[in-house]
Amino acid sequence: MTFSLHGVGVARGCAIGKAALLQRNQPEISEYTLPEAILEDEVQRFLEGVARARQQLQDIRARLPATIPTEAAAFIDVHLLMLEDSMLTQAPVKLIRARRCNAEWALKLQRDLVVQVFEAMDDPYLRVRRDDIDHVVRRIQRILLADEAACIDLAATRLEDRIVIADDLTPADTILMQHQGMSAFVTEHGGPLSHTAILARSLGIPAVVGVRNARRYVRDDEWLIVDGQQGVVLVGPDEAILAFYRWKQQQEQGQLRELGKLKEQPAVTRDAAPIGLYANIELPEDAVLVRQVGAAGIGLYRTEFLFMNRTDLPDEEEHLASYLHVIKILESKPITIRTVDLGADKRLDREQGATVVANPALGLRAIRLCLKNQELFRPQLRAILRASAFGAIRMMIPMLSTLQELFQVLRLVEDTKRELLARRQRFDARMPVGAMIEVPGAALCAPYFARHLDFLSIGTNDLIQYTLAIDRIDDAVNYLYDPLHPAVLQLIYMTIRAGRKARIPVSLCGEMAGDPRYTRLLLGMGLTEFSMHPNNLLEVKRMIRDSTVSKLTPLAKRLLQTTDAGKLAQLLRTITAV
Ligand code: PEP
Ligand code: MG
Repeated sequence: MTFSLHGVGVARGCAIGKAALLQRNQPEISEYTLPEAILEDEVQRFLEGVARARQQLQDIRARLPATIPTEAAAFIDVHLLMLEDSMLTQAPVKLIRARRCNAEWALKLQRDLVVQVFEAMDDPYLRVRRDDIDHVVRRIQRILLADEAACIDLAATRLEDRIVIADDLTPADTILMQHQGMSAFVTEHGGPLSHTAILARSLGIPAVVGVRNARRYVRDDEWLIVDGQQGVVLVGPDEAILAFYRWKQQQEQGQLRELGKLKEQPAVTRDAAPIGLYANIELPEDAVLVRQVGAAGIGLYRTEFLFMNRTDLPDEEEHLASYLHVIKILESKPITIRTVDLGADKRLDREQGATVVANPALGLRAIRLCLKNQELFRPQLRAILRASAFGAIRMMIPMLSTLQELFQVLRLVEDTKRELLARRQRFDARMPVGAMIEVPGAALCAPYFARHLDFLSIGTNDLIQYTLAIDRIDDAVNYLYDPLHPAVLQLIYMTIRAGRKARIPVSLCGEMAGDPRYTRLLLGMGLTEFSMHPNNLLEVKRMIRDSTVSKLTPLAKRLLQTTDAGKLAQLLRTITAV
């Protein structure tokens, strides 16, 4: 009998294969009180565990095949860096001594503290970085508990065409298993923004995460189909279903080959309108993928990564090094660096003696936080300006909501230029400065902002959240998250028109830009620049090359006047079909 399990599809593609169950659970940790006399032995045992974990990761890193994308190594480096960090190496030692407890327990206490800080973060990308903490902590705990069997067996197992079902996978596990032939994976935990999910996308491994109790419903060696797009796992498929998915796999492979041919083709519509297709990146290493898909440049470089997994702030030179890395890969193509979009960080709050923020998404976030904590902002400003001497850098301000904020930022940019002049450091005096339009108030006032800026970029992920009052990371209200809501469409349209009137470019860099279902509607609304995850770029390009803007414009206008959900869906179908 066939039945289906559901989770979140995080990496597209279908896989058919037999299940390989990874019976490895979260280690059970108990607390023991230790006699004073053996405390130093316990500290030693802990430090040896950390050293062993480091060795394991270094071994995996050394065995990475050359074909693996650079970000794969970067994810392992993140875990290695965490193993150097005092929050995981020194703090548990202090806890062992102060509480006279066992090493596993001290590590668990410290993990809980660190995770609290991550969970208080507003930014969903940073919030899921707690997964990285868990992965590293679990690795050490398994070593301390001498529970390495699962990993060691795994390293020796061939996984040719097998679909791995696990509680969770670390990036290192994923790389190792892909090397062993794994064709797809399903995990009981994890989300779409975890490093493992990002890795699955760039390695092209179909994956479904968050399938609760998957290992209870699937037996070892049972036939499975994983649909990484729909987030579905079919268990024990019959012949008819298998035949359908074999056909689907062939179609997908054919489409991928066809899409690959579009790399060198220009992004122009049938009626010769040139469209700028840019990429969003999160790590400097992602820039390689940007080149591989032939993007026109980077429309959104999220710089939060620099601030992750550390207790101190990145300095000017660190910022600069990461920007220069991207410039080196992109050469003369434009790179839009977004100044850091950190959320209401509990740690900073606590340092200042403030209380925990109830609505971090509405709090001291992004540019608000930067203007308040200029020691965080100024080094980044200096580094962005310095980088502009070496490449086509544009600076982008996130979450702008008032003109006063904009003037403050522009003044700071001018101050920074003077500082650099005094230091005799080079920069591009005409470096473009733009802003993200992601607050409804900013979209309504876009004409005023546009007068003082060189470009605008619509951040629909937040614009939808704030317009419809839906927390974008709250599963309970996910169903209300609708890019086609008339209010959202009006705000997008107003921003595009404001840019056009002020003769400055407007792009859209939220998830909506990479979804081919909306490409034609956005073209019809007058959008000429899109920025998206590089993996979506060629599909959107195909749509663009197959579209005629002059036919889409009147249809989009009609759609913008429609408030009835049924009619709206019908019009969207018409737009997609013309
Ligand atoms: C957005 O809000 O649409 C956006 C692109 O920024 P982020 O997802 O990083 O908030
Ligand atoms: Mg945003």
